Amino acid sequence: MQYYSTNNPSVKSDLKRAVINGLAADKGLFMPELIPVLPDDFWKALPDMSLGEIGFQTLKHFFCPEIPEDEFRQLTTEAFNFPIPLVPVTDRIGSLELFHGPTLAFKDIGARFLARVMARFTKDTGAAVNVLVATSGDTGSAVANGFLGVEGVNVFVLYPKGLVSDVQEKQFTTLGQNITAIEVDGTFDDCQRLVKTAFMDDELKKSMQLTSANSINLARFLPQMVYYFSAYAQALKQGRKEVKLCVPSGNFGNLTAGLIAYKMGLPIKRFVAATNCNDIVPKYLNTGNYQPAPSIATPANAMDVGDPSNFVRIQELFHHKLSDIKAVVEGVKVDNDTIYSTIRSVFKTSGYVLDPHGAIGYHAIKDKLDTNAYGIFLATAHPAKFPETVEEVIQQKVEQPERLKAFLDGQKQVESASADYGDLVKILLGHAGRK
Ligand SMILES: *Cc1c(COP(=O)(O)O)cnc(C)c1O
Repeated sequence: MQYYSTNNPSVKSDLKRAVINGLAADKGLFMPELIPVLPDDFWKALPDMSLGEIGFQTLKHFFCPEIPEDEFRQLTTEAFNFPIPLVPVTDRIGSLELFHGPTLAFKDIGARFLARVMARFTKDTGAAVNVLVATSGDTGSAVANGFLGVEGVNVFVLYPKGLVSDVQEKQFTTLGQNITAIEVDGTFDDCQRLVKTAFMDDELKKSMQLTSANSINLARFLPQMVYYFSAYAQALKQGRKEVKLCVPSGNFGNLTAGLIAYKMGLPIKRFVAATNCNDIVPKYLNTGNYQPAPSIATPANAMDVGDPSNFVRIQELFHHKLSDIKAVVEGVKVDNDTIYSTIRSVFKTSGYVLDPHGAIGYHAIKDKLDTNAYGIFLATAHPAKFPETVEEVIQQKVEQPERLKAFLDGQKQVESASADYGDLVKILLGHAGRK
């Protein structure tokens, strides 16, 4: 399949170039030229499929035959190797727990898949690929763990010194192998600027191949459609008929994946796009005015995005027609007080512990639940990733899963850099697999 740029449909790329380059040459985002509708056979077999098989059956339309089918089936089995259960919270609302992967957040799913696809494509070219990522916390750990030990790929994680939580820092600084953590004496914005400067540095790119791993990469957001199919299958098995689904959103890669699943025939009538106070999209859905703004800090910090990079993909899916988007997507903004009160009241009434992002999803789906529908919200992170907030609200310790404890016991290994670009280049050239 060919992939076109959201800036200009005649700018096209094959899969391999689209994955390795991340962005189109005209800086647009790649979209699949065609979205297939899944056949009856698929829907019949869906209830008994493993996640790996759902991944294979749905994603092969985008990734095969560029990756041969037998190899691709193995790839999806390896990438989707942890459970994604639909857990009842009330009798009308279920939590789709996306946090059972290595770093306890849903980004593990996209990162594990992207790493394997990228490794597959770089094997062909023979040159090492260097993934550069700036993180304020969650992205760095998911990407680093997704790529850990993957041959032919070096990962550099830039993060602001002293500004990420202990738990988050441990998840990408203790890994070693092909992962280099770079502690930058500056802010997250400095880290982002350094990464952008590197991507535009033609001199540097002569000696090393650089790529990004954020959700603008189509091999990172497309695999997320897998759990939308799985959620639907699990709801059917639990005897639900009509399902409404809520996605706590920041850059909107996750919702984009859900809407592609919808276009492939997933029988979910409506989606709720939930945001924190960074409510650019809910405002747009209400007023027709799309107004990016500087981001505001909230307790659901992975959703603190004032200019959501993937929203243009959603507009593209609905041919830039607001009325068509509104027919499928509703927006809800959830303020900080409501995040806290939701964590508190859900814990009190059901014993279920929400993290701040999941709390946004729960509140929004409850708010928008129609009489006959069953509501599912995506629980995007484990509450143990946000102990400060959650323990303060529920007045109890949150239990730490074993794999989180393993990170906390690890030894921190970092390179230190100033916010000066020259420092970064030295570190990159010191570690990178040269072309
Ligand atoms: C990244 C992230 C989100 C937002 O997902 P998008 O695809 O950017 O909309 C929500 N919750 C958590 C925990 C995240 O890490």
